[in-house]
Amino acid sequence: MYEIKATQNLKEVMRNYFVSMDKGDKKIAWCTSVGPAELLRAFGFEVYFPENHGALLGATRLAGDYIPSAVKLGYSSDICSYLTSDIGAYLSNTTPLLKHYGVKTIPKPDLIVYCTNQCREVQDWFSYFGNEFNVPVIGINPPRHLDEVTKADVEDVSAQFKAMIPVCEEVTESKFDIDRFKETVKLSKEATVLWRKVLETAKHTPAPLSFFDGAIHMGPIVVLRGTEAAKDYYKLLLKELEENVSKGIGFLENELSRVYWEGMPIWGKLRYLSNLFIENNTAVVASTYCNSWIFDDFDENEPFESTALAYSEIFINRSEEAKLNMLKSLIEEFRIDGVIFHDAKTCFNNSNARFGMPLRLKEETGVETLVIEGDLCDLRFFSEGQTTTKIETFIEQIT
Ligand code: SF4
Repeated sequence: MYEIKATQNLKEVMRNYFVSMDKGDKKIAWCTSVGPAELLRAFGFEVYFPENHGALLGATRLAGDYIPSAVKLGYSSDICSYLTSDIGAYLSNTTPLLKHYGVKTIPKPDLIVYCTNQCREVQDWFSYFGNEFNVPVIGINPPRHLDEVTKADVEDVSAQFKAMIPVCEEVTESKFDIDRFKETVKLSKEATVLWRKVLETAKHTPAPLSFFDGAIHMGPIVVLRGTEAAKDYYKLLLKELEENVSKGIGFLENELSRVYWEGMPIWGKLRYLSNLFIENNTAVVASTYCNSWIFDDFDENEPFESTALAYSEIFINRSEEAKLNMLKSLIEEFRIDGVIFHDAKTCFNNSNARFGMPLRLKEETGVETLVIEGDLCDLRFFSEGQTTTKIETFIEQIT
């Protein structure tokens, strides 16, 4: 059976990350997954990402146990199940970090930073914890749903990043050091370049990395951007994947079709879905989700402007037209035969099937599309039987 050996190192990298925060030696900032982590790291913060915790609650299938606690507090079970499961787990005084990494609680924040480039839900979510822990909360609000990211947009977001500095200085009792910020952006850029190369190994047949593998191996590019640890991990992973490409080894020997995954992962069903596609000789080789942590525009010589640009031009923050164009490029680059749109019930922000995009994409590319219903964490919205039938029928159609 195909295995990625670097997975063992990944576990170690993630354990070190959580254990280090648990030691309490450094100040801790919470940040959204595509928020300005580099600026926070430049101040010496360890950075914790509640969405990563939400994904872990989904992957361990614990989310359903905790969502009701958040619902009792007045949060609808129809809103972001990262939010509801994370707040619910906090109210239940529990975390899967204990079982996985021996860490008893989520790290206590000294500062909380959210960026609404992805959704407004993070504002409510992070503000809730700001009140709970009685710490400052900084909100970055970039312009949304952009066709193009203009100079004015970049200036707006850069100014919001710069306005974080006095708060960070006060919390850390240290002065902002532009050279440290440049160094962090440089490290982040190096890691993101490696991450792109890792994902691009799947352009080969047989592909050495599936979307489902990518969803696991993306941990460091989300939580350790701006560190040597992320860079070192992706060097190691890339080396292994490139060796596999040169030896003609991949996760699927007899690849009959290639699929693109659009939308959120269904965290509690990654293994089931991975097996389902493999059994049907179909390689899921690319996704919007994993590609969202490629930040080509990071440039240490313009640390504010380049991070403002990179974080504003992410897929989720773009217009329908811009998203369609991004999908069309990836379909061509990865030689895609079919696109699966995951309509995640609690995240309309990252579900692109509701305003006709699957049909428009098919019309413009000739590539078949399928919409499946599910959710990132809340498995009440997912039917294994219906999904299997839909996916198997779709694969017959594109093979
Ligand atoms: S983008 Fe979706 S899944 Fe992510 S935090 Fe926002 S609502 Fe939740």
